[in-house]
Amino acid sequence: MSDRVLIFDTTLRDGEQSPGASMNAQEKLQLARQLERLGVDTIEAGFPASSEGDFHSVRQVAQAVRSARIVGLARTLAEDIETAWRAVEQAKNPGIHTFIATSDIHMKYKLRMSREEVIDRVGQAVRLARSLSDWVEFSCEDATRSEVDFMCSVIQTAVDQGACTINIPDTVGYSYPDEISAVIRTVREKVRGIENLVLSIHCHNDLGLAVANSLAALRAGARQVECTVNGIGERAGNAALEEIVMILKTRKGSFGLDTGIVSEEIFHTSRLVTTITGISVQPNKAIVGANAFAHEAGIHQDGIIKERTTYEIIAPETVGISRSSLVLGKHSGSHAFRERVKDLGYSLTEEELERTFKRFKSLADHKKEIFDEDVEALVAEEVLRTAATYKLLSLTVMSGSDVVPTATVRMEIEGRECHGAELGNGPVDATYNAILKLTGRRPNLVRFEISAITGGTDALGEATIRLEEKGKVALGKGTHEDILVASAKAMVNALNRLHYLSGQPKPSVRL
Ligand SMILES: [Zn+2]
Repeated sequence: MSDRVLIFDTTLRDGEQSPGASMNAQEKLQLARQLERLGVDTIEAGFPASSEGDFHSVRQVAQAVRSARIVGLARTLAEDIETAWRAVEQAKNPGIHTFIATSDIHMKYKLRMSREEVIDRVGQAVRLARSLSDWVEFSCEDATRSEVDFMCSVIQTAVDQGACTINIPDTVGYSYPDEISAVIRTVREKVRGIENLVLSIHCHNDLGLAVANSLAALRAGARQVECTVNGIGERAGNAALEEIVMILKTRKGSFGLDTGIVSEEIFHTSRLVTTITGISVQPNKAIVGANAFAHEAGIHQDGIIKERTTYEIIAPETVGISRSSLVLGKHSGSHAFRERVKDLGYSLTEEELERTFKRFKSLADHKKEIFDEDVEALVAEEVLRTAATYKLLSLTVMSGSDVVPTATVRMEIEGRECHGAELGNGPVDATYNAILKLTGRRPNLVRFEISAITGGTDALGEATIRLEEKGKVALGKGTHEDILVASAKAMVNALNRLHYLSGQPKPSVRL
């Protein structure tokens, strides 16, 4: 058996299903390019039949990415499968991933199908998918709660019809390592021809076991892991890509398995996912958390200074964290700036570079040192968070100890310029009142956070907000030297996302 583990990244599909994490086409494309640089084997780019927007963004990714396989998700419906194929067919290595639930509870209440009907449907679906694509993956949704003999007959049907990869999802994050090993072993024993295929695992983290379960599956003979960067995903998320990869690398002696991941790209990728989705990783998160390589305790620091390996099992450089990050400043020219943007993993057009460089120059006028985090924030602000429907043109706020806070806002709404002023309890309240009055929207503000991107009082401020409107949740981010402008930008960004979401009805898929 091969000792190479295939990394199937589903940040763009399963990860995007995290509440509030929806990404637009431009964001998906930037992230796909970075995933390619990271060296993932497969990118699940979306669920093309779910909406027009998703179809087009999967297609864009398929056209842009050259090395990784680009896969579209499809239910076992002819229309889904054909749509998925049309979205990925221009990829260098395209693939279709089709699935159906095999647990009694899902078949009875959700599908309302008998076992025989499910087997028939799988046969037809995999046959159709194989007539279009050389590479087809089949998944048994809710596999870990399925009756194992029945599941093996469903898998046998998929194998007989030419599926190349069989995936076992722990859809609801219910399983534990011994149980996962047993399922993988049983499938390997019972399904004829499975030895010629790749067996894959897809774990959710509801009980905090997604990574442990994925490793148990690898031990039992699976050779593909489905995972997401930072472990984002539906509910408690998916198995975290960076953890699986670094466990296999750090404990190579125990597992004897390799991946094709360029570990030095892990940190950049993690940061890009945070920037795009607005979902931060907790400071104590393994591998990519802010404290993962910090040593506060004196006794640890002393040990580290004498010999790094006393307390450090992974050198930060291995995951792309540089101990000294190159600092740009007022005198850095366009060339240095462009090089930095490229090193950070962004591929921008000439026009986008010009625009970002202009913002960089104006920031450098009042901020002495510009760090990688600042550059990332500028790119996010100027390129990724492009205003579609609502655009903030200017903001003036009056506040202090003896005045009623007042905000005057000038905006462009669907190409039309307008302005208005409102009062509020505080300057942020006044600003938001003015923006919402102009846009005529009434979302609930669920969360509001302000943080400094780097240290120092001249740091860029970053506002992160979460809005809820008619059951749709959107995150918004904004960055600026002035925290009130940052807050206003975050509101406008979230409103643009809400607007985008309301035009994208998504049938729910859970896998
Ligand atoms: Zn999933």
